[in-house]
Amino acid sequence: MESEFAATLKGLNMKVTPKRLAILEILSKESIYLSPEEVWQLMKERFKSIGLPTVYRNLEDLSNGGAITKVIHPDRKLYYFCCRNQEHHHHFVCVFCRRVEDISYCGNKEIVNEVSTTLKGKVLSHVLQVYGICNSCINENES
Ligand SMILES: [Zn+2]
Ligand SMILES: [Zn+2]
Ligand SMILES: [Zn+2]
Repeated sequence: MESEFAATLKGLNMKVTPKRLAILEILSKESIYLSPEEVWQLMKERFKSIGLPTVYRNLEDLSNGGAITKVIHPDRKLYYFCCRNQEHHHHFVCVFCRRVEDISYCGNKEIVNEVSTTLKGKVLSHVLQVYGICNSCINENES
């Protein structure tokens, strides 16, 4: 398991450290996104004296390097998750239960068209994250 995460980091030209590997392992186990405080609690089981700032810094590094994904929640707090899907895709996040689901809709063609025709610019990359209520939360609220 560990070598798989090490390969992920190396593939992104990121230094492999025990703390980064532990964070990737913790986030990959979850189907929901976690707050830095929650990751910290789980990290303390392995690194007894680890401080919250260290967890924050590692989460930011991993997110900037592309190893994990940041969720900027409507509550304005930051959360993180790790998706193993290597294909280009986007995420639907449930603001109630914090479940993360892959969506294959991209919209890149429309975005590129819009930017090149109306702004006369050129798209290099894009970020799309969709917030909503997942199917099981909708069903729970109706019953
Ligand atoms: Zn939900
Ligand atoms: Zn994904
Ligand atoms: Zn896309």
